[in-house]
Amino acid sequence: MERISHWIGGKLVDGESGRTGPVFNPATGQKTHDVDFASTVEVDRAVAVAADAAQEWRRASLSRRTEVMFRVHQVLYQHGNEIARAITAQHGKVLSDAAGEVARGIENVEFACGIPGLLAGRFAEQVSSGVDVHSIRQPLGVVVGITPFNFPAMVPMWMFASAIACGNAFVLKPSEKDPLASMIIAELLAEAGVPDGVFTVVQGDREAVDALLEHPQIQAVSFVGSTPIARHIYETAARSGKRVQALGGAKNHMIVLPDADIGMAADAAVSAAYGSAGERCMAISVVVAVGNVADTIVSAIGDRLPRLRIGDGANEDSEMGPLVTREHRDKVASYLDSATAQGATVVVDGRHHPKYRDDGFFLGASLIDQVEPGMDCYRDEIFGPVLSVVRVETYEEAVGLLNSSPWGNGAAIFTRDGGIARRFQFEVEAGMVGINVPIPVPVGYFSFGGWKQSLFGDTHIYGPESINFYTRAKVVTSRWPDPATSTVDLGFPRTR
Ligand code: NAD
Repeated sequence: MERISHWIGGKLVDGESGRTGPVFNPATGQKTHDVDFASTVEVDRAVAVAADAAQEWRRASLSRRTEVMFRVHQVLYQHGNEIARAITAQHGKVLSDAAGEVARGIENVEFACGIPGLLAGRFAEQVSSGVDVHSIRQPLGVVVGITPFNFPAMVPMWMFASAIACGNAFVLKPSEKDPLASMIIAELLAEAGVPDGVFTVVQGDREAVDALLEHPQIQAVSFVGSTPIARHIYETAARSGKRVQALGGAKNHMIVLPDADIGMAADAAVSAAYGSAGERCMAISVVVAVGNVADTIVSAIGDRLPRLRIGDGANEDSEMGPLVTREHRDKVASYLDSATAQGATVVVDGRHHPKYRDDGFFLGASLIDQVEPGMDCYRDEIFGPVLSVVRVETYEEAVGLLNSSPWGNGAAIFTRDGGIARRFQFEVEAGMVGINVPIPVPVGYFSFGGWKQSLFGDTHIYGPESINFYTRAKVVTSRWPDPATSTVDLGFPRTR
């Protein structure tokens, strides 16, 4: 049994709190690791080391920081498969999906390699006689990332790439369910030349999080996870004066209009609903079938499900792996019972898949038709391989349904009608919109974020908005006077 500990000051540090949590291989159901849970005292020690490192790192020239980010890119790229294997072993997603996660995460490092241009300020000459103004952006100091289990490498990369390139020290508190990837990343960052203390990992649960949220030396908090915790993080950290971006859960709808290419829409719905066993915040969990398309799309999706290869993610043949824990798998499966009890039709019940009886935490791909907004399976974020179909008569009804959702992460429409697609883009209340694209995760040089209860705070994550989030602005007004013209003038400074 291996133990997973903290990464502080550029080295592995064993936990001393005596508190640990179990980590499983979801494909076998076996416990493989214990992860240390940091106490408040251990968090204090880690933040003190990070605060010292931040003082040095903000002095490093932009070309040095750029060079380090290029090396970070190189080592992450070279060791991508190792990170992917660690993700599969603890999260359960299939290897190709884990490799895709790493690749999309590395996009954020590529973006951060352009840090000199991203941080360049503005200059205005002669704003008054002999007076110039320029703006600069400076790092905040120590910033924190608290991340979810479903992207144990990519979501930390969403945060630390820009945070470190901007000149901050970054403290990561990964999910306790799959913490191994964070430790591999920590070692690789050290190998790439990230100075000791600039990247820290504290493992833990609520105690570590609360200690970070209230720590006076932490300036900003990036959080990604479920909506109730996102709200708690936002409120607690903001109360102690920190800058916060807290990304929450989702319930992403995909509207299928009668003119859509049904084969393409069904392929997209299956890929986006069941990829990573539905454990993606951008997964499609509701298909909204408009008009007479409903029977056709339900049967096209249903036809594809028996062909999905479900198994251990480490097996190259598998397309869908298990869920992260047994408790989560059982909770996801319970929605199939409540759906039936509440009047929906379970078209495909994943509990009939042979893998459901394995020791691993498997559930087959499940499809529920005739879902109505009041039902549990519609109201809750299930976060598993369960796709609901809601039938409506018109496009207006479909958009109304989406816009009445408390979440606003992703939203997609499948149609061949450009006019309707454009209207959808204008009307829909969601932060990321796909037109014939089911999972519209923005590329690394745009920013990612939802609306409503999918994001608390003002700033989206990664990309251009991350540069503002991880720095603060300073505007300098300067004069280099000719002593010969100097006078006393008590009037308010004028520019003309
Ligand atoms: P979670 O909210 O349970 O945990 C996220 C982090 O918060 C973890 O590090 C965890 O240790 C910590 N945490 C959990 N309970 C806490 C508490 N009571 N106090 C303080 N910290 C606590 O989320 P999860 O189950 O790991 O991840 C799945 C959720 O994340 C889903 O809701 C999914 O939609 C969401 N998610 C959102 C995005 C996005 O970009 N909006 C991306 C990925 C995942």
